[in-house]
Amino acid sequence: MVDFSKHEEIQAPSGPTLHCQGWGQEAALRMLMNNLDARVGENPRERIVYGGRGRAARSWPAYDKIVDSLMSLENDETLLIQSGKPVGIFKTQSQAPRVLIANANLVGKWATLEEFDRLEKKGLTMFGQMTAGSWIYIGSQGVIQGTFETLAALAAKHFDGTLRGKLYVSAGLGGMGAAQPLAAKMLDGVALIAEIDDQRIQKRLDSGYLDVAYESIERAVNDALAAKREKQSISLGVHCHANELLQYLIQRHIVPDVLSDQTAAHDPLIGYIPDEQNVDQARVLRHQDPTTYLHMARHSIAQHVRHMLVLQQQGARTFDYGNNIRREAFDQGVTDAFEIPGYVPAYIRDLFNAGKGPFRWAVLSGKPEEIFQLDALALEMFGDNPLLTRWFTLAQKYIHFQGLPARIAYMGLGERDRFAVKVNEWVAQGVLSAPVVFGRDHHDTGSVASPYRETEAMRDGSDAIADWPILNALLNTASGAHWVSFHHGGGTGIGYALHAGAVVVADGSEDSRGRLSRVFFNDPGIGVIRHADAGYDVAVKTMADHTDRMRAPFVGPDTNIPME
Ligand code: NAD
Repeated sequence: MVDFSKHEEIQAPSGPTLHCQGWGQEAALRMLMNNLDARVGENPRERIVYGGRGRAARSWPAYDKIVDSLMSLENDETLLIQSGKPVGIFKTQSQAPRVLIANANLVGKWATLEEFDRLEKKGLTMFGQMTAGSWIYIGSQGVIQGTFETLAALAAKHFDGTLRGKLYVSAGLGGMGAAQPLAAKMLDGVALIAEIDDQRIQKRLDSGYLDVAYESIERAVNDALAAKREKQSISLGVHCHANELLQYLIQRHIVPDVLSDQTAAHDPLIGYIPDEQNVDQARVLRHQDPTTYLHMARHSIAQHVRHMLVLQQQGARTFDYGNNIRREAFDQGVTDAFEIPGYVPAYIRDLFNAGKGPFRWAVLSGKPEEIFQLDALALEMFGDNPLLTRWFTLAQKYIHFQGLPARIAYMGLGERDRFAVKVNEWVAQGVLSAPVVFGRDHHDTGSVASPYRETEAMRDGSDAIADWPILNALLNTASGAHWVSFHHGGGTGIGYALHAGAVVVADGSEDSRGRLSRVFFNDPGIGVIRHADAGYDVAVKTMADHTDRMRAPFVGPDTNIPME
């Protein structure tokens, strides 16, 4: 029997028994609990799921009220969540979303980290990151495929399509960062990752995302170079500051083939440990003197980016992996920080142009074998896509499930809805023993405005136009997603991003079929229109292939506006 009142060792119920009035509410309840499962989230005691302080609920009393609300919510009602706190329940209609979520949103002029911190301390807001506050985080796997796709695109552009015989150096083994060593290994490379928190290192060793860990930088680097020479695929972690590792490489004239970073530098107060501080010292200083902490963290970040620039000039393929480290360094006087390219314009944009992004599903049965059944279905339906085929094969070999068994796959426009509708049929036919939840990261084709990440260097200069993610959330609401979210600050931090999420549960019903078909076509569809509007040919072509289900009456900038 699940104890819904306990806050320690939360685990989502699994199986076909409903605890709520319908599967929309039940799925939201289970995915909220799954985010706070210690096997899934980074620090469930503080309700932190990943990404610095990305939370699923504002406080434990707020969590309890969300659970109660979901359990009593009728099938024609909608629950409203304001930054992790349930604030209202309204009669809407049966096909409306069961939950609508808004996290960390601030009016533009007030959208600074300092103002957010002030409001958070007063108990008025909560940072929801992307999938933390929107209850569709699935553990490190969620970003592994994104990292796999990114590194695969990098390898195709610069090398022979793999990382064989190549050394990938980075820092940070948190919720997202842990994907790096495994993804580099999946592409046959050698990964060497600096991490300052030994508990995080242990967690990654336990989950198989890391093969070996070192206390000595010298030993770690020597072994990494030997593995590179021998063309081994292996993932190594080293317990040190990012700057210590990079400084060591520079002093010894060792240039990695690929260089990046996944510390949570977007939030220097929580997500970046300054040089000379260990984790415990940092925790104390952060509470006692946040101003000094921020000063030290920002100084270290500036040094970090300077080191990255030196190695880049020496030939390392260097990229910013979406943590806003360049902007933080730029603000500290590193004027050439943006010489480092962002990974979206460098490697990912063409996927977004085709409506591809991090689609995911979790089986509410709790049975891993049902994920493997769905892997087989996906391979049957999309077997002509070699990267997807390779991904499913490697995922089965390397991915350890965390919490409710789940899978992620970069699927495109026309693929996501087809797959989800087929799975809904399987639920109806009893091929699967319980419903399946489908959702995605906010880091997707049409759901985010983030000028230092997803919308960096858009062809038409529309990087900061945030109408698109708002339209995305509204469209997914109109299309009947079971829950829809709109957040501020995920990935690149407060002031730098606005983004939306959508989730639908396949419970085998005709109602679910309609929702899945509409949401998972329209959701990537608006991403394709957004990119076609910005002038990308691949998006224009993708749009042209789907005129039966979407139309774009006016594409491109409106040059008819009279100029003053
Ligand atoms: P996290 O807070 O879970 O982990 C950050 C890790 O960095 C921690 O383990 C911390 O100990 C370590 N760290 C901090 N300072 C360090 C230092 N100086 N040297 C070595 N290690 C240090 O964050 P996360 O969920 O892993 O996310 C990392 C970043 O990636 C965030 O900025 C996040 O917003 C961003 N992100 C990127 C993507 C993507 O697809 N590229 C997706 C989501 C989030």
